[in-house]
Amino acid sequence: MQDKYVFVTGGVLSGLGKGLVAASVGKFLQNQGLEVYPVKCDGYLNVDPGTMNPNEHGEVFVLKDGTEVDMDFGHYERFLGEEMTGEQNLTSGKIFQEVISKEREGKYLGETVQMIPHVTDQIKNKFKDDGVKIIEVGGTVGDIENMLYLEALRQLKKDYNVCHIHVTLVPYLDATGELKTKPTQHSVKELRETGLQPDIIVGRSEKELDDEIKEKIALFCDVKKEEVISNPDLDNIYNIPLKFLEQDMDRILQEKLDLEKKKVDLSNWKTITDNMKKDSVAKIAICGKYTGMDDTYASVEEALKHAAAHNGGSVEIEYLSTEDIDVSKLNRFDGVIIPGGFGSRGVQGKIDVARYCRENNLPLLGLCLGMQIMTIEYAEKKGIEATSEEFEMNGEEVIGLMPDQDGKKGGTMRLGDYEAEIEGKTEKVYGTGKVVERHRHRYEFKPEFYSELQDGNFIISGKNPGSGLAEFIELKDHPFYIGTQAHPEFKSSVENPAPLFDELIKASK
Ligand code: GLN
Repeated sequence: MQDKYVFVTGGVLSGLGKGLVAASVGKFLQNQGLEVYPVKCDGYLNVDPGTMNPNEHGEVFVLKDGTEVDMDFGHYERFLGEEMTGEQNLTSGKIFQEVISKEREGKYLGETVQMIPHVTDQIKNKFKDDGVKIIEVGGTVGDIENMLYLEALRQLKKDYNVCHIHVTLVPYLDATGELKTKPTQHSVKELRETGLQPDIIVGRSEKELDDEIKEKIALFCDVKKEEVISNPDLDNIYNIPLKFLEQDMDRILQEKLDLEKKKVDLSNWKTITDNMKKDSVAKIAICGKYTGMDDTYASVEEALKHAAAHNGGSVEIEYLSTEDIDVSKLNRFDGVIIPGGFGSRGVQGKIDVARYCRENNLPLLGLCLGMQIMTIEYAEKKGIEATSEEFEMNGEEVIGLMPDQDGKKGGTMRLGDYEAEIEGKTEKVYGTGKVVERHRHRYEFKPEFYSELQDGNFIISGKNPGSGLAEFIELKDHPFYIGTQAHPEFKSSVENPAPLFDELIKASK
């Protein structure tokens, strides 16, 4: 099969959900039996996003290989149910670093090293995969940062089957009750200056684009009316592929990419997303620190939605800040999550939440820091004044850095996939004796406390086979009280919810 590419660019402003468009298109292609290979191209000079302030870009999403990436990868994985790698995230910093290293090693054999062709070739070399490549360029057309990516795409167009999707904003003016196409016209004009012409225009707007607006955009932007796709505000992001399907976007893609003409069938997907509209099956409290911030727990929230949908309905989620929590209010909830986090703030409240759930048989899932909190709480129950090395709190450090991490600044993060051999309820939940989950943490449940804390009720229900470190803990005498050092939320997808979330919902129902 000849190489096939889908380009996804954006105009007018950023934050229009290009990643969701890319993920939706990937879903169509996957549904017709094709392999897809999404690549996200970011303009910034950081070599990887791990060094950027997470609060600026929403949640830090962690891939199986430990690469820390932005939330778009979460969308790709949740829609496609496939795991990505760090290779699929390009940044200008990474590309330049590679080109300069090659130059220093004398690999260019005396040539003058230039933006074109050397940098653009370096970019194109990243697109070597057998699947249909979906290349999303971050930011908007016209950003200086993105010029080299767009140039690389332009060069690809003449040799391969390409479907270029341009996502723009179609603003709605309340005063006149009109949708405005001018920003889209300008954005396409700007795109053309780079030598690219879109095949499909996705118009993001508050309202549905009607035929007249589609006609107008088509006229000014040299696409057919059917190639203008309406992408209005929807109450659920998982309905976006369905919205596109209604407008026969699958057919247009097939045409442009010269693919077999096959109706995409998302009926299974629709059954799941329809459940998300139904009554709530459980009311879950997420008891954490940055509860004022949107997106901090995006993957936890999505994992809950996937799990609830598989249990026939939606989920009601409430965020409670543990800095000022009255735990007696938790009796309004069917289940609780203590999510991951860093630092001392709100820690006492989290310990109180764990105690309340333990004593009142309220289902609790502890994620990463959540598991550490559950361990500290249980140690306290056993008469140890317990704490973590991370907290500004007196006591015995039941949670701390491992000796091999000492000396390094702040310890190194344990990132990405680690295996665990599991037993007890944890094993029942997963239905297997071995699991691999993703990690992002520094501190560990210290092995010198393992025997002291385990008493037949509290058990370490999962250990890493190599290091012997605790990966899961659970209580035997409790309907659902499981903590994990991992972040199972990162592996949850619409069609395949994370087992621990599924079980939390079942226990809460
Ligand atoms: N702060 C804890 C650690 O570094 C937990 C991290 C997390 O919850 N992601 O170990």
